[in-house]
This record gives sequence, C-alpha cells and structure tokens, in this order.
Amino acid sequence: MSADTRILLESLGVTSGHIGGTLKVHSPNTGELIAEVVETSVSEAVTHIEAAHQAFLQWRLIPAPKRGELVRLFGEELRAHKDAFGKLVSVEVGKITSEGLGEVQEMIDICDFAVGLSRQLYGLTIATERADHRMMETWHPLGVVGIISAFNFPVAVWAWNACLALVCGDAIVWKPSEKTPLTALATHALFNRALDRYKAAGYEAPEGLSALLIGGKEVGEALVAHDKVPLVSATGSTAMGRAVGPKLAARFARALLELGGNNAAIIAPSADLDLALRGVAFAAMGTAGQRCTTLRRLFVHDSIYDAFVPRLKQAYGSVKVGHPLEEGTLIGPLIDAHAFQGFEKALDEARGVGGKVTGGERVDINGAHSYYVRPVLVEMDAHIGPVLRETFAPILYVMRYSDIRDAIDLQNAVGAGLSSSIFTNDVREAELFMSAAGSDCGIANVNIGPSGAEIGGAFGGEKETGGGRESGSDSWRAYMRRATNTINYGRTLPLAQGVKFDV
Ligand code: NAD
Repeated sequence: MSADTRILLESLGVTSGHIGGTLKVHSPNTGELIAEVVETSVSEAVTHIEAAHQAFLQWRLIPAPKRGELVRLFGEELRAHKDAFGKLVSVEVGKITSEGLGEVQEMIDICDFAVGLSRQLYGLTIATERADHRMMETWHPLGVVGIISAFNFPVAVWAWNACLALVCGDAIVWKPSEKTPLTALATHALFNRALDRYKAAGYEAPEGLSALLIGGKEVGEALVAHDKVPLVSATGSTAMGRAVGPKLAARFARALLELGGNNAAIIAPSADLDLALRGVAFAAMGTAGQRCTTLRRLFVHDSIYDAFVPRLKQAYGSVKVGHPLEEGTLIGPLIDAHAFQGFEKALDEARGVGGKVTGGERVDINGAHSYYVRPVLVEMDAHIGPVLRETFAPILYVMRYSDIRDAIDLQNAVGAGLSSSIFTNDVREAELFMSAAGSDCGIANVNIGPSGAEIGGAFGGEKETGGGRESGSDSWRAYMRRATNTINYGRTLPLAQGVKFDV
C-alpha cells in the first residue's frame, strides 16, 4: 500500500486487518495501485446478514430517540475527521477537494436530519365510522436493510440510507462498490468509534448492527437473495436495477432503486443567461460528468442559441482539467479505462449521426493509466443515437427548440426520469415545467441545474431510474412497516359497513 494511503487510512481508524487481500484499489488520479483489500466471501456475507437479523430483534426495541443518539455521535466523528475523509474520497474516486469535502458534509447533514427524525416517526389517527372506536397508524422497524452503492457517491449514499434505517430501528448491511472499498472501510471505522462511545455512555447496541461486505456483484447478489433482508436499497446503473429488481420482487422484498439518469435542462428566451451559464457548467462538467444527476442534454431556444452556446463553448475551453487535489482544478479524472472507452464510443456514435463535437481530447496529467479528458459539448440537429442514453462522462448534447411544449416532450423522451431543470423568468413556463404536463422526472428545478441536491428533499427518479426515494421528506417510511390499529373502547361490537353477524 502507498505510504500516503496508509497514513490517511490510519488517521481514520482503518486497521491493518482489512489490508492485504485480493481486491485491488487503483486511484483514478494516477492509475496507481494504492491498496489491496480483504474481500468478504459469500458465506461470510450470509453470516453477517444473519447476525444483523439477530441485532435487529434487539435494536427495534430501543426507543427511537435513543437510537438517534448513536447517529448523533457518528455525525460528531464525521465532523472531527472531515478533512482526512474528504481527501480519501478524492484519492479513491477522483473528486476535486471541495466535492470530496462536500460528500462528507452530506453525510453530516443526513446525520443531523436523522437525529431530528428520531423524535418524529409520526403515525396518523383516522376518523372511524364506528362509535367508541379509534383508528391509528403505527410505524414499526422493518428488519435488515441491505444497501448496495455505486462508486461515484461512495459514502454519502450509504449515509442517506444507513442514518434513516438506524433511527427507524433497522440493522444495516452494506455492499459498497468494488471500486471504492477504502472509503467504505473508513466509514465503518468511524461508525464503530461512534458505537464504542455510545456503549461507553451506557446505551445498548447489539453486536452485528452494521456490517460491511467488501467485494463485487456476488456478495451483492447474496444480499439480494437473503430472506432475512426485507428491503434492499440499491444505487447504480439501470442494468444493475434490472438484475436486482425482479429478484427482490420474486421473494416479495421491497426494492428502493436509485438508478441511472439522462438529465436535461431547457434554456428559455427569458432566462438570465449569466446564471444559466454557471448552472449548466457545474451540472454538466462537475464531478467530470460522473453524477447520476449530471446534465447530459440541453435544449436552447432558437432566439438565444447564438448568444448562449458560444459563451458555453468558451467556458468549456477554459476550465482546468487536472489532479483533483491541485488548487484550481475543476475537472478530475474518469474513474477508469472502461469509463474512458464508453466516453470515446459515445463521441464516435455522435459524430456518426452528425453531431458537431467541441472538446473531448484526452489530457495527459499523470501518465497512461489515468484517464483525464476535456469536457465535451456536442451540437446535435436531432434527439437521436447516444443522446438517448446515459454515458457516465462529461458529454453535453446541445439542441435547439422553438416551442416549449416540444422541448418538454423531448426532455421526457428518454428511458430515465431522474432530474431536470428549466432556466426561465417566465412564470407560466416555470409552472408548466413543474406541472402534471411538465417534466416527468423525480426532480424538476427552476433556475438551478439538475445536479447538487440537498438532503432535505426526497431524492430519486421515475421510469428507468427505478422509482425509489431516499434522504429527506418522508423517505423514512420506506425503512419501516406500517400497522393499522383499530381499538374498540365501547361495550358493543358494531361491524364496519353495517354488516350484521349476531350469534
Ligand atoms: P454499477 O451498476 O456498475 O454498480 C453499482 C453497485 O451495484 C456496485 O456495488 C455493484 O457491485 C453492484 N451490483 C452490480 N450488479 C449487481 C447485481 N446483479 N446484484 C447485486 N449487486 C450488483 O454502477 P456504478 O458504475 O458503480 O455507478 C454508476 C451508475 O450509478 C450510473 O448509472 C449512475 O447514474 C448511477 N447512480 C445513480 C444514483 C441515483 O441516486 N439515482 C446515484 C449514484 C449513481
């Protein structure tokens, strides 16, 4: 293991026990091998899941505000280690400094949210048709929650799920991306510190409450298959969701699917073009185009196309591509060679259907084993070919439109339904875009880009994005089961709907 990586991991409490295995970790920043990590076998995964189920049986009995205290302590660990942890995210995934730190901040934010939530797991009381009766809903812990996560938000997505699941009374078993085991080990080390402090303060926490399964698809499949896992929250490609969803349905388990996006923005004639330029630049180029909410398709009104698109090209030409930890860098590397091949293939296809390509050159920052590219703008005459699918790289397809309804129809004419935006100062257009006849996505923004969600809202998308919602609002309900209770405090037994059954 590289000395820098060892120092960073040690500062986050990762012990040598996990290091020296068969899973090779390469930093996308240099392409170098930075660590080898011990993998979890399928049989070990099953043992962890069964232990988590036993832990759940106890954890569900602990009052929710007391469960919240564990999440509060975890938030403290994250605050204390934010700089080192953010740097590890940058080293393992290639995020620029502020985005690595932002990922940890997102974890802290969801901790705070979950702590508050631990006193707000509300049910309803409902009017009944029967005298001297009361009807109510109660929310109970669900069981073991399986979490499968993608490489591009290696730790925040776990926190979105884990913090809510823990306050809801569930145990958690996590299968992170095989490309990002180091940040997963660091997360678990910090979580275990919080657990030790929790127990030292006199609270009870069962063994096996949170488990980590390091490895590829096979361990993920074991999690999906296990009948003691009533909910799997799986984040990744639509192809992964197509494999996982039917398996969960077959055993009537819940699926919370957070899959790919092919997100669009509309730049309307009344838009503030300075603001739109910044919004588009961050959403399309940020994280080197490797966010599920990255802006991939842009519809620009005919009347402003020639004023806006040349400025956008200028911004594309001026952003600094470089090592993510270097001052001033805005675009880090693609995750690996496979991502670079997908990038080149999409550009070839775009040229083949008449796309005019600006940018897209490979940039040599750290030699042949790292993959840095200049972000690309592709002007298209039609909404066809690679425009219709997600390529996980910084490619923005730009098209003209003249009628807002056509632009909305095109924005909706793809498989994915995650995020979308309109830049306009026309209230009618903005409201139309957010209406039932507007964007069909889970996220529809006005005058901000489609990426960069806050944790307070429910996050997720429709159609091939999978339909799941996690993080804020009432997403917590996915992690609990609902019981409807009817209580008779009278001396007679009236039946609903006037049914008579006298014996
Ligand atoms: P991926 O689909 O290759 O892998 C995601 C995770 O699924 C990994 O942990 C992987 O090991 C696991 N996996 C793959 N096949 C599996 C199977 N059959 N059974 C169980 N587990 C399996 O995705 P990736 O390349 O890591 O991430 C990029 C993709 O994730 C993009 O499509 C992106 O849009 C999407 N994503 C979506 C969201 C969202 O919230 N909607 C967030 C982040 C990323």
